[in-house]
This record gives sequence, structure tokens and C-alpha cells, in this order.
Amino acid sequence: MLMQGPGGDTIAQETLDLMRLHGVPPSSANYQVWLAYRLGRNQPVREAVDARIASGEIFTAEFNADLHDRFFTGLGSSAQILLAGERIARDLGQVVSFLKLTEEKSGDYGRALESAATDLSNAIGPDQIRQLVSGLAAATLDMANHNRHLNEQLQRSSHEIDSLRSSLESVRMESLTDSLTGLANRRMFDETLRLRIEEARAQRTDLCLFLCDIDHFKRFNDTWGHHTGDQILRFLASALQAHARPDYLVARYGGEEFAVIMPRANARLAAQTAEALRAAIQTKRLRRRSTNEDLGQVTVSIGIARLQPGDTAQGLVERADACLYASKRNGRNQVTTDATPVLYVA
Ligand code: GH3
Ligand code: MG
Ligand code: MG
Repeated sequence: MLMQGPGGDTIAQETLDLMRLHGVPPSSANYQVWLAYRLGRNQPVREAVDARIASGEIFTAEFNADLHDRFFTGLGSSAQILLAGERIARDLGQVVSFLKLTEEKSGDYGRALESAATDLSNAIGPDQIRQLVSGLAAATLDMANHNRHLNEQLQRSSHEIDSLRSSLESVRMESLTDSLTGLANRRMFDETLRLRIEEARAQRTDLCLFLCDIDHFKRFNDTWGHHTGDQILRFLASALQAHARPDYLVARYGGEEFAVIMPRANARLAAQTAEALRAAIQTKRLRRRSTNEDLGQVTVSIGIARLQPGDTAQGLVERADACLYASKRNGRNQVTTDATPVLYVA
């Protein structure tokens, strides 16, 4: 298990012991810092804490907060997950040892109740009864306190588990998103296309795919620089999304190539959508954001393929790509679909 130290002591416990030794309250933020210190993997944290210890100054609330801010805020989601995982392991470790204690305690409590019942049925005197009742009251209070504590611990664990779940979700989203445009990335495209093909087969519905590539983008980059090139990519991403139905998936397929998966869209609708997009891009006058210079016209070439019986995802993509290539070869700034075989056969 993650938190298990070599001697059977948990690292979590050692971390808490260290914190107690230095008078640091066991808040979740402080724990993050001290766990990193105890694990020794984070050199800057280790140095900062060691320097404070060596100076003989105490760990004030202000210093603790500053430590946490310096090293642990703004962490990437992966690091958050690691830390949340460590916190959960620590909390669950505590819950487990607490549950063991609960078992013992409720055994003791049960035995106390049993022996009280026996004593009571043996008609003992008033003094003994008084003693017995106050003993039972103490045992009951102890048990209630223990249960309350357990409850608090369980609540904290479930809170940590929630935060881990949301960190995992954001990491998953990150891993499926293209950071430049915010569109789905190639991985998301591949996963979604496979799913949509299965769905179209099962439901006997249409599915179209279109690929879209910026014309002479290299020239554009060479003239205006990569940064302005990126601005064009973002512009194209938003134009694509503006033309997509909510059930379409718009993805950045590669460098300056985009793909749209269109479930329940027939070839005519796909061609109309692509044509509207192409025309909208051609008409748009783009300006360089930094200098307001006119960037001239940007155009795109598009290839559309419609799912056929027996198609694989790869086959469908290859056909859309062949159509895109036909659009390029025939002069760019146009849409080609596989409904017109003569246009896409090389
Ligand atoms: P064609 O009309 O035949 O598609 O010509 P093209 O110049 O668009 O195609 P080519 O494949 O020769 O060049 C694509 C260019 O896209 C080259 C590369 O520098 C650029 N590119 C790829 N990814 C990015 C990116 O993330 N940002 C920027 N600014 N440029 C990119
Ligand atoms: Mg291109
Ligand atoms: Mg290209």
C-alpha cells in the first residue's frame, strides 16, 4: 500500500508525529507540506523546512501558510491527484484502525451491558445499582464519543474521495483536449469515432465524417509567424464549432487539420454544413491581433465520407482523406464528398 513504511508504521503516522513534534497543527494544507517533507522527494520543501528547524524559530501559522502557498498551490492536476490519493490512504488507514478499536470497544460495551443485566437480575442493593448505572453511563458516553469521532473521520474520507474524483475527471478532460484550441484531441476523436460507428450500425443510422485542412498554411506561418498561425487555428476551431450540432464532435485531428464526426447526418446535410463552413471562412477578413494588419484570405479544403457497410474507422477516415486530397488537387477552397466517386478516386 502507498502509505506503508518499511517497519509497518505508516508514513502518514510518521508525518503526523513529525508535525506534532514541531507544533504544526494537522490541517490538510500543513499535511501536504509535511508529507512531502517526510517522503523527501521534494527538495525545495525539504530545504525550507530544515532551514526553519535549524533556525530554532517555531512554525507559526503564517509561516505554515506561506510554505503551502509557495510549494503547493497552482499544482497541476496530476500532482493534486497524487496528493489526494495520499490523503485518502492516510484517512482510510486511520478509519481502519479506528474500526478495529470500535470492534474491541463494542465488545467491551456489550460485556458491560451483559454483566449489568446479570447483576440487576440478582436483586442487588441500591448502592450497587447506583454504581452500576454510573458505570454504564460512562461506558455509553465513551462509546458515543468514539462513534462521533469515527463519523467525522468517515466524512473527511468521503470529502477527500470527492476531491480525488473531480481531480481525476479534470485530468481525463485534459488528456482528451487539445490545449491550443480547446477542441477534442486526436485521442478523443479516435475513441468517439469507434463508438459512433458502433452506434450507427446498431441503430441503422447515417454517419458522416469530414476532414478539413487549411490551405497553404505553411505560407501563412512563414509570412506572419507561428503565433499568428496559432490565432488562425483558434479562429478555425470556433468557426467549426459554430457550424456543428451539439451531437457532433469537432476535433483537432493533426497540426492544421480538423475533423468533424457527424452522427445521424446524411451525405447531403454533411455537404451543406461543410459548404457553409467553407464559405464562412472564405468571407471572413482576419486581422492580426497585435498589429491589426489585414491577414488576407484564409481558405480550407474539405473531404467528406459517409459510413458504408463493412467500413472500419480507419477505412472511413482514409476515404474522407482521399476526398480532402481531391479538393486540394482540384484547386483548394472546396468540398469533395465520396458520393461523387469520380472526384475522389485518385
Ligand atoms: P496545403 O494547402 O497543401 O495543405 O498546404 P499547407 O502549407 O497548409 O500544408 P503543409 O502540410 O505543407 O504545412 C502545414 C503547416 O502547418 C506546417 C506547420 O508549420 C503548420 N502547423 C502545424 N501545426 C501548427 C501549430 O500548432 N501552429 C502553427 N502556427 N502552425 C502549425
Ligand atoms: Mg494545409
Ligand atoms: Mg495538412
